[in-house]
Amino acid sequence: MTTPDPLAAEGLDASILGAADRLREAFDGGETRPLEWRRNQLQQLKTMMSERGDELVRALQADFRKPELEAWTSDIAIVSQECDHALKHLARWTRPEKVRTPLQQSPGRSRIVRDPLGVVLIISPWNYPVQLLLSPLVGAIAAGNCAVLKPSELTPHTSAVLAHWLPRTLDPRCFQTVEGGVAETTALLEQRFDHIFYTGNGNVGRVVMEAAAKHLTPVTLELGGKSPCIVDRSANLDVAARRIAWGKFLNAGQTCVAPDYILVHPDREEELIEKIGAAVNDFYGDDPKQSADYARIVNSRHHRRLAGLLKESGDIVFGGELDEETCYLAPTLVRNVQADSPLMGEEIFGPILPVLTSPSIEDSIAFVSQRAKPLALYVFTENADVEAKVIAETTSGGVCVNAILWHITSPNLPFGGVGPSGTGAYHGRASFETFSHRKSVMTKPTRFDLKLLYPPYSRLKTKLIRRML
Ligand code: NAD
Repeated sequence: MTTPDPLAAEGLDASILGAADRLREAFDGGETRPLEWRRNQLQQLKTMMSERGDELVRALQADFRKPELEAWTSDIAIVSQECDHALKHLARWTRPEKVRTPLQQSPGRSRIVRDPLGVVLIISPWNYPVQLLLSPLVGAIAAGNCAVLKPSELTPHTSAVLAHWLPRTLDPRCFQTVEGGVAETTALLEQRFDHIFYTGNGNVGRVVMEAAAKHLTPVTLELGGKSPCIVDRSANLDVAARRIAWGKFLNAGQTCVAPDYILVHPDREEELIEKIGAAVNDFYGDDPKQSADYARIVNSRHHRRLAGLLKESGDIVFGGELDEETCYLAPTLVRNVQADSPLMGEEIFGPILPVLTSPSIEDSIAFVSQRAKPLALYVFTENADVEAKVIAETTSGGVCVNAILWHITSPNLPFGGVGPSGTGAYHGRASFETFSHRKSVMTKPTRFDLKLLYPPYSRLKTKLIRRML
């Protein structure tokens, strides 16, 4: 992580330095309140996904050779799906929510009204650079906010396409895209926003939280961590191996919820490794370097980091080929990995899969519980008791049983971490709630005015009140 330099903000474009204030004028003018405006913006964003999809795919390929199908499914289509879901449910989400008024507070009418928060800042990383910028934006629009969008500088082609099309797609009075790195983000973080939604690593998450504290701005932090994958003795290994290989090597392992490491029963280790190897071969052929379906590491800094991790831990079963010039790292599986090795220290965030053995489900649970709470936890099992035990006795952002990644693709399931893997959640209704304030409203009738609580107090009034307890 680069240390933020407050002086770096000097010399930046005035449109960056005054971004929050400028958008606040539009927000205060009520531009974002009408549901029709929100619907229109969501519709426009959806149209941008289909009309500019090919351009975005080319940019994603130029940035790190993201395979075309992965670009469509994991970046572009997810944004479209979020727009559809919000459009379908917007009327219901924004309707005041009636709640019961308890007898002691009666008579009265109670409800919860969703207010937009105001001007929000969305900072996104490079690994799914379209989805991770625009999916939160869907929630921000649905809830009626203005937003400043900060794509990652590590995927410059995608950032440029987004910065070109977003102002031509969305109401420019209410949305601004700011390209750039630490200096630009630092300048934004100095401004007062009504919410900051940050996705990325935990070190920068701390920088964001510290900056937000100065203005008492609430934050959503979508972070990462080491997501374990427990393979129980009862698991269907044919399916488990294919699903693990797909979820791990998709985007060359640069997925926040990729299985970081496997914990498998010793009796099944050999067979699992063999089947994962076969699945990788089926997916990418004998030489994954030649496959159009396999992405590259985003830059040489991350490539060197991964090469360093690989050098220091375990025995490579397959993969391990590296080419720094083209940022290639083959799908790699490592066994005999020590729990205290560098590979098991930090989030791998690349195509290296360590396999560790664990003698029982209790040991696997203890292994996971002794470490930082992960963003995702996977368990492959055909035993319902094991499934229930793992869910009940571990904590993670989310759990997916007998599959990888699927739980984060449903707009009906909130997606977020817990503790070091994140704060808050989004997707579907959860995105709308993240960018809304739940305002409590009670209306009391005036035809009847209970004098019991008004001074002067008396022994009789106290007696009556005590009777109500
Ligand atoms: P990154 O380097 O692109 O950084 C993320 C954002 O922070 C960028 O917009 C960048 O400009 C900004 N930034 C970087 N340094 C900064 C600084 N010093 N001050 C202010 N802003 C700064 O992406 P990354 O952090 O490498 O992303 C990978 C990490 O993100 C992994 O840990 C991964 O698990 C996590 N992640 C989480 C999710 C999730 O949804 N929970 C999704 C994707 C990635």
